[in-house]
Amino acid sequence: MSNKDQWFYPDELSGDLRDTGLSPAQITETITAAWEYTRASIPEFTNWERYLAEVRFNAIAIVAECSGDLLDIASEGPVLGYDLDELIDTLFAGTPGHESMAREFRGALLFMQEKTSGRRDTLLWHRYANALAYSPRDWFRIRDCDGLARFTMAAALACNDIDTDWPQEEEFRFLAELVLILYDTVAFYKHRAEGEICNTWAYADPSLRQEVYGQFREALWALDTAWSRRPDRRCLTTFIRNVGGPIHMTMRRYRFVEDGLTIGEPETTQMVDYARRHAKLWYRLDAIPETDRADEPFHKIMTDKDRLLFDGFADMLKRPEEENCSHCHRQGVYGTDDLGQFSGVQLCSACLQDWTAYLTTFAARARGTLPLAFAKA
Ligand SMILES: [Zn+2]
Repeated sequence: MSNKDQWFYPDELSGDLRDTGLSPAQITETITAAWEYTRASIPEFTNWERYLAEVRFNAIAIVAECSGDLLDIASEGPVLGYDLDELIDTLFAGTPGHESMAREFRGALLFMQEKTSGRRDTLLWHRYANALAYSPRDWFRIRDCDGLARFTMAAALACNDIDTDWPQEEEFRFLAELVLILYDTVAFYKHRAEGEICNTWAYADPSLRQEVYGQFREALWALDTAWSRRPDRRCLTTFIRNVGGPIHMTMRRYRFVEDGLTIGEPETTQMVDYARRHAKLWYRLDAIPETDRADEPFHKIMTDKDRLLFDGFADMLKRPEEENCSHCHRQGVYGTDDLGQFSGVQLCSACLQDWTAYLTTFAARARGTLPLAFAKA
């Protein structure tokens, strides 16, 4: 099998990411991955300018996920050569998400960048690890931000010129939970190879994966059936269906061809090593000890929270230590050196039960907010 990839993307993107510290090969692969992700997650659109802006947001996120030291999202300057405010205006001006999606994106980037910065024992990183494990509801809200779930759904609406009557906060939460469970379940071994701190199964009981995926896929079809005649909502179920599984086959960032036309194979030491070397733009969250004491970013970010974090995120990060469960297993350094392990807080059995109850009641919780169709007899 040939190792030489050929890449494809529109000419408009040819000059992007120059002089950012990325090699020409990395630039080409990043733009291609951003383009493939946009095509796979938002296959239909009516507004090309907004669509190109969405590709560029994805390019920035891909770099942050892999080489966070190349950008500084907290600064006001350009990010990888892009004027972030201008990109936000292009994609979201005139929509209900103009201000909130700017905060959503900056908050996501901040922690993607922190993850790949090599810093592992800052107050910011500890507070983040604690916030992720605090409760399933908080977990899904932070993972929603980290995974750019509602951001991409908002982009899908904007790219289709749907500028009014967007989902409300609770609807966005359920839609994000739906796509994230599906995605995280399929990405389970990929994320473990990366030592991820942001996979649902790093917290919830992994033995429930099959059962829960089945339940969530059923909920997706119930929603899709209800929204199939809603042109202003179909782009959201299309997004969830594609990101919840098929992108692992269509996008070259995943290893479907390399792994013999399979997805969901357990990780190997070789895959972990590939992740460490950024093959396919992955990143391995090793528990590297901090060698050069970096600045502590926590307080600076808190003072700029209305620009950098979604509404409510700062409160999750400021939560006093004593409010965290004292039985869950916390660590000094969040990252992992072991094969078959995620990073992050390990939940105690009582907390695990709470998460199980939450995950296995999705349809019942969501029904009052999302119009899930009832099953045929
Ligand atoms: Zn606990």
